[in-house]
Amino acid sequence: MRFPLALTVKIARHIVTHKVKRTPKFAMVLQLEPLHTCNLTCTGCGRIREYSTSLKDMVPLEQCLAAAAECNAPMVSICGGEPLIYPKIEELVCGLREQGRIIYICTNGVFMRKKMIAYMTAHYDAAMETKLQRLVAEQLVSEKDAQSVRSADASARQKPVIAPSQWMYWNVHVDGLEYTHDLIVEREGVFKECVAAIRMAKILGYQTATNTTVYKETDVTELEEMFKYLSWLGVDGHTISPGYDYDAAKKDMVKRLGKDPTEFFLTRKMTREKFKDIEKWGKMFTIFGTPVYQEFLAGKRELTCTAWAIPTYNVRGWKAPCYLMTDGHYPTYAEMLTKVNWEKYGVVDGVARDPRCENCMVHCGYDPSGALGTNYQRGDNWKNFAYNFGAKPASYPRGMDVKAFNGHSIGKGHLAEAKAAVNRELSGSKSVFQRNGNHDHAGTDAGSAPTQREELIARIESAASKTSDEEKA
Ligand code: SF4
Ligand code: SF4
Repeated sequence: MRFPLALTVKIARHIVTHKVKRTPKFAMVLQLEPLHTCNLTCTGCGRIREYSTSLKDMVPLEQCLAAAAECNAPMVSICGGEPLIYPKIEELVCGLREQGRIIYICTNGVFMRKKMIAYMTAHYDAAMETKLQRLVAEQLVSEKDAQSVRSADASARQKPVIAPSQWMYWNVHVDGLEYTHDLIVEREGVFKECVAAIRMAKILGYQTATNTTVYKETDVTELEEMFKYLSWLGVDGHTISPGYDYDAAKKDMVKRLGKDPTEFFLTRKMTREKFKDIEKWGKMFTIFGTPVYQEFLAGKRELTCTAWAIPTYNVRGWKAPCYLMTDGHYPTYAEMLTKVNWEKYGVVDGVARDPRCENCMVHCGYDPSGALGTNYQRGDNWKNFAYNFGAKPASYPRGMDVKAFNGHSIGKGHLAEAKAAVNRELSGSKSVFQRNGNHDHAGTDAGSAPTQREELIARIESAASKTSDEEKA
């Protein structure tokens, strides 16, 4: 089965109960954003841009738990920002488990190993020692950290931790192989860290999934290679969705990167082209979601948006109408359901009811439509049942042949040119940026940290102005 049986049954029971009660709209997955702070500044991320003025705000733990209880979605996706920065993330995960929810922690992977070391510290015993030795041997945990796990005092052992469970998935953001992923997250070394975290998670028995956003520049051949590699690593499932052209992300792209957003985001036609092989991937790899949504992505059918089934709760309340667009925030899920005119949104028979929906085919708007049968066609229920209850695709056998580390690890990262330029500048020769007149760095957004590339380019500029001052003197 693609999903553990208990989880599939829980979700199926939730849908059937509401269908029997004829509930018109109900939540399937809560997108819970306890904070929008992030340690990265990925290109195309709408969150850290849209909420740039409230990056330091957090939803109190009790409020997060109350939101989950109110909408009563069987699944909660804890996202953000980077949820592992949330100071009460362990208590949040434990609280949601006490409510019986299936939990996804959507993370960029950078702090995962730290959280898993905390878990080992709290649960260290003789059985854990074998795993700890393996993690040290595979350089996933340092000898120093291993010693601190072994010698932890009682207070460290009593701290709440994120423990492996069939009810919980790490959901790691991976947008391509090393070069591409590090370019999109605007930091080198992140892909390598994600892989290390996934390997560690699998050794410790965590369920681990990945989520991938597809952009206009995404090479689908590379995506297939990425799935082969991740499958071979033992990843339990993958979510894949086309990128959405957030207003805030588009503005950021123009202002900070000097890029034309139309070069980055997908139109509907392009999405269908990129996803034409999704059904083949669904057979080869454990792609999460419904086959009905996959047919929609591949352009074989239309679906109507059911954004109310994947509501978002964050520091400002219930975000309407969807994870992507913001026309308002509401204090309760019930109020959002009744006050929003849902007929204004989505694309029906190829016609966008709202121009902002025109190119949207994202998972959070349309995957539930496939599960809920909003555009039911004969055989859909059986298709969904067979897909989710059928055998899980085997781990890809030759994943080790994939050249996953094709950037930073072999000295070909996107910063290589910038580093070379700094070195040239400091040794007196002109940088490539000056030669080409290619100063595409326009400063950073208020509230967002400068990227490594920006820092390097700033150093080039500062070295250049120092040289010119010395020349004048
Ligand atoms: S990891 Fe990237 S996409 Fe996720 S919240 Fe942070 S900046 Fe946005
Ligand atoms: S179509 Fe997309 S952008 Fe429009 S409401 Fe639905 S999820 Fe949001």
